[in-house]
Amino acid sequence: MADFAVPPKILIVDDDPANIDLLAAILEEDGEILFATSGKAALAMAESERPDIVLLDVVMPDLDGYEVCRRLKDNPATAQIPVVFITALDQETDEEAGLAAGAVDYVAKPISAPITRARVRTHMELKRHRDHLAELAYLDGLTGVANRRRFDEYAELEWRRARRHGRPVSVLMVDVDEFKHFNDHYGHQAGDACLQKVAAVLGGLVNRPADLLARYGGEEFVCVLPETPAEGARVLAERMRAAVEGLGIAHDGAGAAGCVTISIGVATAVVDASSTLEDTLARADAQLYRAKSAGRNRVSAV
Ligand code: GH3
Ligand code: MG
Ligand code: MG
Repeated sequence: MADFAVPPKILIVDDDPANIDLLAAILEEDGEILFATSGKAALAMAESERPDIVLLDVVMPDLDGYEVCRRLKDNPATAQIPVVFITALDQETDEEAGLAAGAVDYVAKPISAPITRARVRTHMELKRHRDHLAELAYLDGLTGVANRRRFDEYAELEWRRARRHGRPVSVLMVDVDEFKHFNDHYGHQAGDACLQKVAAVLGGLVNRPADLLARYGGEEFVCVLPETPAEGARVLAERMRAAVEGLGIAHDGAGAAGCVTISIGVATAVVDASSTLEDTLARADAQLYRAKSAGRNRVSAV
């Protein structure tokens, strides 16, 4: 999530340290100041630090500002960072060149402190809102865990990484048992609250940075567990099953075991050229079906 408590990072790029000092003094209250005195250093820093805005001088000895800006925009890792040119060039054609290179704004020297500050604040605020919206587009609105879109993109990415290195990937398909009857018995709002609690407890168990829990749809969740062999995946699935049962959410609807439970299908692949993610998901789904047939509230693994 966008963390509004962390101060934004402002990268100032100028070959003249005196200009950096001047801008840093103007903007010191608006964020953490980073600086670079060459185009190459600026590109490296933008990639490693991911600043929230770049203030860019045009005339520099190695790469000029236009070229730095174009390269920032060409790199997916830095393309979203707003670039503002700060320069003594003040002719209309220069402004055009800056905007054509992908800058959002242009501030002419001599620098006016209030104008520079106002523009920088505006562009940083817009970026934070864009980042926030982009994050929301990947979250499930009800449960706050990742959504299906995020899962599809992320699982594909991890799958390709595993294929390059011949590493195992496990997936878990999780489905709430007799949930239709839960809704029928307690109402849809109670059903929603139940899904939120289940998601929270599952999320609490998915700890490794590379693991991802997502809502797959309805009352189904899915986990992708990179670098996780079958036994580790089965252990985690069993922990999840026990934790949801341990919530003790009453479920006296038809067919239920007295409290809300989940069934989980586990599949693992050592990823090579012949195995596909779709295949592995289908195998996890088949295991989930087996867990249901065998009586629910259980884990089934290949
Ligand atoms: P099984 O044990 O075989 O999984 O039975 P089930 O009743 O859980 O499965 P089924 O697929 O028949 O029904 C799923 C139900 O989940 C249908 C719907 O009432 C409920 N459901 C799906 N999404 C939501 C949701 O967002 N909120 C609520 N409250 N209920 C949902
Ligand atoms: Mg279902
Ligand atoms: Mg179900």
